[in-house]
Amino acid sequence: MRLALLGIGQAGGKIVDEFLRYDARAGSNVVQAACVINTAQVDLDGLEYVPVEDQLLVGESRVSGHGVGADNELASTIFAENVDELGDTLDRAPVHKVDAFLVVAALGGGTGSGGGPVVIRHLQQLFTEPVYGLGVLPSEDEGGLYTLNAARSLQTFVREADNLLLFDNDAWREPGESAGGAYSTMNEALVRRLGVLFGAGEHSNGDVGTRVVDSSEIINTLAGGGISSIGYATAQLESETNGGLLSRFEVDDEPVEDSATSTSRITGLVRKETLGRLTLPCDVGGVGRALLVVAGPPEFLNRKGVERAQSWLGEETGSMEVRGGDYPIPDVDKVAGVVLLSGVTSVPRIDELKDRATEARKSNDRVASDDADSVDGIFDEGIDPLF
Ligand code: GDP
Repeated sequence: MRLALLGIGQAGGKIVDEFLRYDARAGSNVVQAACVINTAQVDLDGLEYVPVEDQLLVGESRVSGHGVGADNELASTIFAENVDELGDTLDRAPVHKVDAFLVVAALGGGTGSGGGPVVIRHLQQLFTEPVYGLGVLPSEDEGGLYTLNAARSLQTFVREADNLLLFDNDAWREPGESAGGAYSTMNEALVRRLGVLFGAGEHSNGDVGTRVVDSSEIINTLAGGGISSIGYATAQLESETNGGLLSRFEVDDEPVEDSATSTSRITGLVRKETLGRLTLPCDVGGVGRALLVVAGPPEFLNRKGVERAQSWLGEETGSMEVRGGDYPIPDVDKVAGVVLLSGVTSVPRIDELKDRATEARKSNDRVASDDADSVDGIFDEGIDPLF
């Protein structure tokens, strides 16, 4: 599936940068266009893969390139004032080739939190393709303001985007890891999941016996909106086949194995990815739609495995809409599975964010009165239940 990526703010920019690195290395050809927008020049200077001509600094007359701090309402104002510049940037990008837009931002900071929804709204007005959000939730120890920003901005992202994929820093930060180190590990983990998911809609080798996922299945799974979470797991082929057993089963230079082994590997993977660490930990029992992608060498992907895993996923999620298929990638030594859980309804972290934000509002009259002056209706008043 071909995407245009828009990274807003520091985290958004870094994740887009990592996606470009992944795309070039994996040759997956998912990213057709990418641009990053920030109010802080220093954040743009730190990017390695996004060309300078695709970097947009906004709000210089207000913040002189120094960023907005954690003031997401100021960011929202700045983006609303400069949204036409985004149009000029998009005019230069090959957006006519894309299947969807992905707007990436942290919800707890300032620029991404406030600017992200403005960008999404603008793209929705300009294009007919779906516009998805990819939001990063702050970790618990980042303080009340980040929590409040995230809780408020979450509602706005959900309302403006066709679907909001979430990544929870709180669930992914390893204790004792430095912030910089943790971020690059987390960004790599997130992008690997997105790369397999969206890469799936881009590849087909016409193999008989497999069922390749196409981009309309990803779009249909995300249709209906709400919040999504992604699971991922891999199985190493060499180690599973007892160090070299693979080579003993070569036929016409193609390693093969009995289909029962491939089937049970796939079903095992899907259990692991669904029940393991999700980008946003949630109860898999209340999911609207799901998509399963199994990626790896075509000779290790089998239809029966995917079908069994699909029906297991249907039972586990209670969803009537579970899609599934392959993503054949020759010459790799593992099989990877991605599960997209779309329209999740039971997310303890979101309940917690809402509770924390309500408490913060109660104890801070100033913030409460700021709420009433929200910019252009971008921010809702109060913390309404999302679901
Ligand atoms: P902005 O530039 O004002 O939008 O602010 P940031 O993007 O720095 O948002 C702050 C939030 O983003 C905090 O919750 C940080 O923990 C988180 N964050 C910053 N950089 C990264 C990153 O590279 N990866 C991830 N996963 N989170 C990040």
